[in-house]
Amino acid sequence: MASEALKAGVHLEVDSGFRSYRYQKQVLEKAMADGVSFDVAVRWIAPPGYSEHITGRVVDFSPSDLTFSRTAAYAWLRANASFFCFGESYPETRAGGFSWEPWHWRHEDCGTDR
Ligand SMILES: [Zn+2]
Repeated sequence: MASEALKAGVHLEVDSGFRSYRYQKQVLEKAMADGVSFDVAVRWIAPPGYSEHITGRVVDFSPSDLTFSRTAAYAWLRANASFFCFGESYPETRAGGFSWEPWHWRHEDCGTDR
């Protein structure tokens, strides 16, 4: 997918892929050590065992924050990622649960892998 994007002049830079239970725990603990309460932190950081990153089917593109939604990479993904069986896990229009994560994309079995 990244090489196809590059043909269109779009550089897809991966910020994060697989994360172990232990690493996810560290990410959450670090946010809380920085003064973020658990209730606030879990809006953005799944508790260990609840992150899609443990599945190995998920990538976070860089920058992994809301500014990603204004990048050419995000526009390219919105138009093309489905051809590569990738979809947004937490789209802007998703009701409840996780906040919008435009940088976070999950690979699905869709039978049309190129
Ligand atoms: Zn993610």
